[in-house]
Amino acid sequence: MRSIYNDFVSPEEKGEIGEDIIYRDLARIKGRKAFLPNCYIPKHNGGTTEIDLIFLHESGVYVIESKNYSGWIFGDEEQEYWTQCLQSVGGIAAKKQFYNPLWQNEIHIYALMELLQDDTFPYYSYIVFGDNCELKNIRLTSGNHHVTYYEYLLQDISGNAQQMGRCLSNEKMDELYSLLVKFTDASAEQKARHIEEVRAKHYPIIQPDGTWTCPQCGGRLVPRVARQGSGAGKTFWGCSNYPKCHFIYNE
Ligand SMILES: [Zn+2]
Repeated sequence: MRSIYNDFVSPEEKGEIGEDIIYRDLARIKGRKAFLPNCYIPKHNGGTTEIDLIFLHESGVYVIESKNYSGWIFGDEEQEYWTQCLQSVGGIAAKKQFYNPLWQNEIHIYALMELLQDDTFPYYSYIVFGDNCELKNIRLTSGNHHVTYYEYLLQDISGNAQQMGRCLSNEKMDELYSLLVKFTDASAEQKARHIEEVRAKHYPIIQPDGTWTCPQCGGRLVPRVARQGSGAGKTFWGCSNYPKCHFIYNE
């Protein structure tokens, strides 16, 4: 339990350090602006989605996802999971997978658009990585996302703002701010509930009749045997809706 919990908490904590750097830099951008950190935006199918930072600027709404990771980062727009490669002391690379941050930010923006019901201004997706990681061959295909390092964020957003010009009136900015501020600074209780929701998605749901169902799609869980990889031959639980649903559970 503990290790799964850690997987979700420590990047957030690390993220906070990165967010301080982001505020400091974005405060230098010319024009009217406001910060809305840690927004918990309701999703239409229930639950919430957490946006690290909404940067309201006269040039539009910047939805910023901060990843203060180290190591080498591999991935592209179509891959569900990206890989973080850490060089260990013994020279053996440790690999970790994390959900495609572009898809993650698309979920954020979608929830925000649903909430605001307003497309009279642009929304921008920014994924910002820590300076102590190296992005390797990250391929962006749709042109909908900006992927950069903390170091270049100021430059990147300034350039975008200059190119787009003014897209939000003072009145509109005030309106958006007062609406969104209600979703920021979530209480510890709300934060805990959000972490619990995320964690719950990784455990089977035990039905009253003792069968297990998938926490992500509601499908039946069935025992399967791993064919390849280091776990070849081992049994795990897979979703009966595979390949539509990729949920797996190792006891
Ligand atoms: Zn499933």
